[in-house]
Amino acid sequence: MSIMVSAIIVAGGKGIRMGGSVRKQYLTLGGCPILEHAVRAFATHDEIGRIFLVVPEEDADFCQENILSPLKLGNRAELVSGGKERQDSVYNGLLAVEERDDIVMIHDGVRPFVRHEQITACISGVREAGACIAGIPASDTLKYVNPSGHIEKTLPREGVWLAQTPQAFRHDLILNAHEAARRDGYAGTDDASLVERMGKRVKLITGSRFNMKITTPEDLGIAEAILLGETKFFQKAYRRRIL
Ligand code: C5P
Repeated sequence: MSIMVSAIIVAGGKGIRMGGSVRKQYLTLGGCPILEHAVRAFATHDEIGRIFLVVPEEDADFCQENILSPLKLGNRAELVSGGKERQDSVYNGLLAVEERDDIVMIHDGVRPFVRHEQITACISGVREAGACIAGIPASDTLKYVNPSGHIEKTLPREGVWLAQTPQAFRHDLILNAHEAARRDGYAGTDDASLVERMGKRVKLITGSRFNMKITTPEDLGIAEAILLGETKFFQKAYRRRIL
């Protein structure tokens, strides 16, 4: 019997770094909200069971109407209220997942270009290792810069990877890791770091540079270019019958 995988998609942020009055997760990309792209990628994946969409409490009606209803997810999807920080939002999502023994995948709602192949690879990795995330190798030289804008040191790049989402875990493992972090007052910028600090191993699979996190207005421009490029790429591929 195959194990059920639930997806927690976090979009509980205020989206302030983007400026403007609309939260960044709802900005339009290729005709629909950024968040809808992310939710659709999970909703159309065979191995994903339930979807928990974490949004600011006051946005629940908006998200039901504009994100979940257009995707016709019915009771396969559930809205969960976000928390103060991303970590709190994920924790709320984890509490909403009832199947305690199963696998959960956590994904940022502002990464619209996650592909089925990354979701599939993370699921295989978590089945083997209990925890598995997507990431890409650092390709630029890494500098540690002080607040006055001067370089303090150059960090070795060898073996350095940039963490992305999806991040997949056994539900009990990630719930325990979140509870330990809350007890210890530890704030991490991703979920894997909470598992790492418990001394557990986390597998990393190669994600994609296209699986970007939309944070600034500049990122939105890059995302639009990716979408256009992908459309052109697929049109060309279809014409040549290579897909
Ligand atoms: O702020 P950051 O870019 O790290 O946010 C990554 C994801 O976490 C976004 O999709 C954002 O909406 C979500 N988030 C959240 N709850 C918060 C803050 C951020 O779900 N309190």
